[in-house]
Amino acid sequence: MTFSLHGLAVGGGIAIGRAVVVAASRVNVAHYFIEPGAVNVEIERIRRARDAVIEEMHRMQHSISLMGPKDTPHELKALLDVHLMLLQDEELVKGVKDAITDRLYNAEWALLTQLEVISRQFDEMEDAYLRERKVDLEQIVEKLLRVMQGQAHDATTKLSALAQPKPVQTSADSADVPLVLVAHDLSPSDMLEFKQGVFTGFVTDVGGKTSHTAIVARSMGIPAVVGARASSQLVRQDDWIIIDGDAGVVIVDPSPIILAEYQLKQRQFIQDRLQLSNVRELPAISLDGHVVDLLANIERPDDAATALASGAVGVGLFRSEFLFMGRLDRLPDEEEQYQAYRLAVEGMQGLPVTIRTVDVGADKPLDGALKLESHLNPALGLRAIRWSLTDPPMFLTQLRAILRAAAHGPVKMLIPMLAHLSEIRQTRALLAQAKTELEKSGLAFGDIELGAMIEIPAAALTLKMFLKYFDFLSIGTNDLIQYTLAIDRADETVSHLFDPAHPAVLRLVADTIAEGRAQGKEVSVCGEMAGDVTMTRLLLGLGLRSFSMHPSQILAVKQAVLNADIGQLQDWAQMVLAHEEPATLLAG
Ligand code: PEP
Ligand code: MG
Repeated sequence: MTFSLHGLAVGGGIAIGRAVVVAASRVNVAHYFIEPGAVNVEIERIRRARDAVIEEMHRMQHSISLMGPKDTPHELKALLDVHLMLLQDEELVKGVKDAITDRLYNAEWALLTQLEVISRQFDEMEDAYLRERKVDLEQIVEKLLRVMQGQAHDATTKLSALAQPKPVQTSADSADVPLVLVAHDLSPSDMLEFKQGVFTGFVTDVGGKTSHTAIVARSMGIPAVVGARASSQLVRQDDWIIIDGDAGVVIVDPSPIILAEYQLKQRQFIQDRLQLSNVRELPAISLDGHVVDLLANIERPDDAATALASGAVGVGLFRSEFLFMGRLDRLPDEEEQYQAYRLAVEGMQGLPVTIRTVDVGADKPLDGALKLESHLNPALGLRAIRWSLTDPPMFLTQLRAILRAAAHGPVKMLIPMLAHLSEIRQTRALLAQAKTELEKSGLAFGDIELGAMIEIPAAALTLKMFLKYFDFLSIGTNDLIQYTLAIDRADETVSHLFDPAHPAVLRLVADTIAEGRAQGKEVSVCGEMAGDVTMTRLLLGLGLRSFSMHPSQILAVKQAVLNADIGQLQDWAQMVLAHEEPATLLAG
């Protein structure tokens, strides 16, 4: 039966494919296609894991039998019996084998797929006691996964296995149709691992439009919808679904008519993109001759190639924290960071690269697990520069690495989340120290321009101080909106109030641009607002000449710049600023 789910539009067009539903806690279990020749190896892996768990249970049963009846909890014995029974359940075993043989899923993926199928059957049971046995099944699967992770196997147990999709298989149903991922939540680093993976679209239950997970999805130019509430419960494994990333709609089990309509839309989207590529080689100059810098936001050094291909005239934001995520056990050392930054700098072939110092915390935990223990208000907590300043040796390592990369091309350094003079002073002192250390050690390094992100209202309101200490400013509208309006950007329940066109937000943005220009300092916008074509004319009218966005958005914004007569937009922009409902003027 066809039904639709509504969430938040991340963009990227239309994806049509079969759903792969991944349970929240298991998102970082490997999902990849195996070669047809590896089917037996995979079945053997699951068989060995099952044998190991059964053996462990028999051992437990034995030790229980040695206890006196008084010491033996009756429930424990019954629980072991249930678990043993489930482990030997034919449906579980057969389903897993079928998914490996017919669909060429790796063992873990096959196991999780079958868990989903059986879990739904438990959910539908009338008897409450039987329904609750689903928990036992989940525990069994958890045990099997743990044993498999411990097994020597050349496949990585992380999502990164998805980054190297196997050639499309012909014999398996699911291997030659597009797959779309449906999950409760994905961390930004999980999402990044999906780049060039097997999934052609994403749906998550939670997340805001400018959550970092959405940002990474947008950077991939793949259709995605976040904040679609109960999607991971309502969509079933293998359901056909349509993701309309521009409307924020997910259609499950579409009828042939709906399917045909969306296939048409999909073709139209691809056509429009092709059309836009005509402006790739043109410089971004408005009708009245203003040159506008369109820069790229990147997450990894090798994104530089995509940035160049999109016609970006530099990198306006390299989110360096993606080098740090999932590395809690060992953060990248100076050499590793230096090589990564150098790769980006060389990749941009002489165009400037703005490297932002690490911004972890809030919805970008260093490690997924940290999320669970995070503080009550992580967005207001130890994040970005605050985090860096708590560990000067770690911060110095990054500063040195960036300075060394500057020996290979133009580099700018951007500091996130500043609000206090003390933070500015400490940062500058550490930067001076990093230079002295490099001089002493004789390692080559280059000059950098130092910039501040304006993303906390306190910074926007004390701009004169920032302009005194920094060479340039970059407005982080995602956080500026979050902190001005007190809306958690990652929380879909308040996403309707996350309003880029709120008069207070526009006022702070406008004043920052005006003040920076008055003092002859470059101001850019690197938040999602920069890539939103409905805001381009306003930002141009307010005097912005530097926009940094996902490479996939550059051509559309360039088209808007080419069509703009900025001289005529200035008065209109002031009118928008003064309006109590600016959005009504922007839409037109
Ligand atoms: C911003 O806040 O607008 C920004 C660009 O930084 P991030 O999205 O990484 O917080
Ligand atoms: Mg920010």
